[in-house]
Amino acid sequence: MRVDILTLFLEMFRGPLNESLLKKAQEKGLLSLNLVALRNFTADKHKTADDTPYGGGAGMVMKANVVVAGIISSKEKAESRKSKVESRTILLCPTGKVLTQAKVNELANYKHLTLICGHYEGIDERIRGYVDEEISIGDYVLTGGEIPALVLIDAVARQLPGVVKEADSVANDSFYKGLLDYPSYTKPEEFEGHKVPEVLLSGHHEEIKRWRRKMTLKLTLEKRPELLAKIELNKEDRKMLEEICRSM
Ligand code: SAM
Repeated sequence: MRVDILTLFLEMFRGPLNESLLKKAQEKGLLSLNLVALRNFTADKHKTADDTPYGGGAGMVMKANVVVAGIISSKEKAESRKSKVESRTILLCPTGKVLTQAKVNELANYKHLTLICGHYEGIDERIRGYVDEEISIGDYVLTGGEIPALVLIDAVARQLPGVVKEADSVANDSFYKGLLDYPSYTKPEEFEGHKVPEVLLSGHHEEIKRWRRKMTLKLTLEKRPELLAKIELNKEDRKMLEEICRSM
């Protein structure tokens, strides 16, 4: 997958994109992350990318012509590499649809994403016609779209085949199948008086699988009960939930 990140603040990406799984994904050629400096698309000698808002008020607004030129250039480059690229142009903004794991999984199927990072008061409304969708990372306002873009890239990269070594670990992650993940433990067997659940030391794979499923259901029931209503539970799950409810 190729991701073009349109931004005025390239330096915000350097560290996060060059560590851990994102670094390895790029080294393996599974992910190509391309930082695009929006200032390169300005038309004046001062490289002006923003201006005061019409109607007055505080803050600056990013200029439509600059951002649209960046979007077009990113699309043209993607298309010149392959005749037909499955591409999506996304504006990160607090007024967009809140990002979910289902959306992340959907975006992981595209070959090319263009992410637009706003800053200041946001971007001139007239870029909307060039955008396929608007995504928010939550109901709060950040300084810019750079951190939301990093959140989206990180979540999508985990879903690309080969990025996380064991596919199972992604499939068991919270939200992947609509539930929360089961608890994990590592050495030592006892920490501050708390022991690792015995079943995990038993080496009995079926028992461990059953315990983990039960914990997944229990944690989801305790912390996010609304998630349980959205998924289809099998007979065994329902039996486990009955056991959980009886023991609560
Ligand atoms: N005036 C805008 C509003 O109230 O909706 C907020 C602008 S914000 C200070 C500047 C930029 O940060 C936005 O254009 C957007 O790109 C990004 N941003 C801020 N919060 C965000 C969020 N929750 N999700 C995605 N992007 C966000």
